[in-house]
Amino acid sequence: MDQSTEYEQIRYEEPAEKVARIMLARADTRNAQDKKMLYEVDRALNRAMHDDAIRVVIIGADGPHFSSGHHMKDYSRIGDFTPPIMGVGGYDRPGQEGHMAMEQEIFIGFCWRWRNMPKPTIAQVQGKAIAGGLMLVWPFDLIVASEDAQFSDPVLAFGVNGHEYFVHAWELGHRKAKEMLFTGGAISAQEGKELGMVNQVVPRDELESYTLDLASKIARQPPFGLKLAKLAVNQSLDAQGMYSAIHSAFGLHHLGHANSRILYEMGVDPTGQKKIRKEAREQIEDGEKRMAEARK
Ligand code: ZN
Repeated sequence: MDQSTEYEQIRYEEPAEKVARIMLARADTRNAQDKKMLYEVDRALNRAMHDDAIRVVIIGADGPHFSSGHHMKDYSRIGDFTPPIMGVGGYDRPGQEGHMAMEQEIFIGFCWRWRNMPKPTIAQVQGKAIAGGLMLVWPFDLIVASEDAQFSDPVLAFGVNGHEYFVHAWELGHRKAKEMLFTGGAISAQEGKELGMVNQVVPRDELESYTLDLASKIARQPPFGLKLAKLAVNQSLDAQGMYSAIHSAFGLHHLGHANSRILYEMGVDPTGQKKIRKEAREQIEDGEKRMAEARK
């Protein structure tokens, strides 16, 4: 077990008794996720799970936006920072094989591992959570969002069904999931609450204190009861086929990547990739402008 307390992309905090908080600390890149960040999040979650003094974990983010998704210019390789966790192997294999292995390790592998960690986890979300950004929201147990939070997954434009942790229908219901994917549009915090995806919506300046109070309230509950309740709810979803459904969708995701590899000699449709990057940049800049004006 790696208990190193050194992090570059995140911070590990203990803001209240029995509560750990993992903050994505790359506001300069709108918390775009590279491999280093995902391994640091995994290591920090592991640390919180193994620390008997911690009962609840919050995952939040610095800056105006929770996360803009995968870092598109992350050229690091699996194994550069820490040995692989999920035991997949073959990350450098040619064809679709290496790409699939990489995503099995750090995307669907990590998300499913985090979803099954025994202690309650709370995502604290402001601003945009785009595509891969949802991989640091949906695996966690509760979601507290500020009024400005928006959730989107526009990656159909580059030739795949959605981002790699395909729980859309479970989170939103099947019709809204299709609308979100077909249009590439965003679900607001309030809409997310009405759909049952978001637990609570609070003003932006109360996001941190509200989430911390909620975590502290849960942390006063008996830990074994919390563990059993979490297991019981997760197993209810598993009994409905959640594991099989999301892993089957992951197979379709790689059919999409492989198709693009044949057509464009890269894992995604380059036209769609450009479009998504441009739209994400515009959305983020627009949101930041509006926030700056609101502060005047
Ligand atoms: Zn992918």
